Amino acid sequence: LGFINLYNKEAGYYSNEHVLAIKIFTSQAAIAIHNARLYENMQHLAIVDELTGIYNRRGLHELGMREVSRVQRFKRPLTALFFDIDHFKQFNDRYSYAVGDQVLRFLTEKLRSQLRDVDLLARYGGEEFVALLPELSLEEGAEIAERLRIDIEQADMNIGEENLHITISIGVAPLVAKPSETDQLAGKEPKLLHELIEKAGRKLHEAKESGRNRVAF
Ligand code: GH3
Ligand code: MG
Ligand code: MG
Repeated sequence: LGFINLYNKEAGYYSNEHVLAIKIFTSQAAIAIHNARLYENMQHLAIVDELTGIYNRRGLHELGMREVSRVQRFKRPLTALFFDIDHFKQFNDRYSYAVGDQVLRFLTEKLRSQLRDVDLLARYGGEEFVALLPELSLEEGAEIAERLRIDIEQADMNIGEENLHITISIGVAPLVAKPSETDQLAGKEPKLLHELIEKAGRKLHEAKESGRNRVAF
């Protein structure tokens, strides 16, 4: 776990008594470090989705807060994408829940490979995903969403013996910093993040209403 080095100019300074004291100290320190690591690991588990390995809703809120405060402080753009698989209930009914789970993993990998490292991707709920894209405007976010949509539409999923296909609908919304209100906005990050996701969710709803397999922004 670690290394402690004690040094004294005086040769033969350390006695067995010192050794005993150091042994007690190091074993207690080791327990403390070990517990801290366990705790860190548990915290990690609490914010990660078990099925897909990406952030869950709680993870999105915890990490998304930083992105929102960056928007306010540095006046940088941030765009949210809200993804939802089309007719996924029918898909499950037809191919089974287990195959549906594999589709969720497939979709996660697709999204993750197309997004940048700085983008925050989370499984928001069942078959709904949210991505926060720092530094991208609404138009840029919508372009990426359209590319992802086409990519998923054209992807062959080879699951078991079958060659399966899905489509997704995507809602896109931006968070825009308000220049005059920076000070008043401090502490409002949870609310702003919530509103941003809601806004992208409303756009998703529009995409669904207008026929699915499309992007609305
Ligand atoms: P729409 O195009 O309107 O989105 O239709 P939909 O059927 O996808 O929408 P709805 O929200 O009614 O259904 C979502 C379905 O997602 C319901 C459920 O069977 C499925 N689902 C949710 N979570 C999971 C999961 O963890 N695994 C699997 N296999 N399916 C899931
Ligand atoms: Mg849904
Ligand atoms: Mg759906």
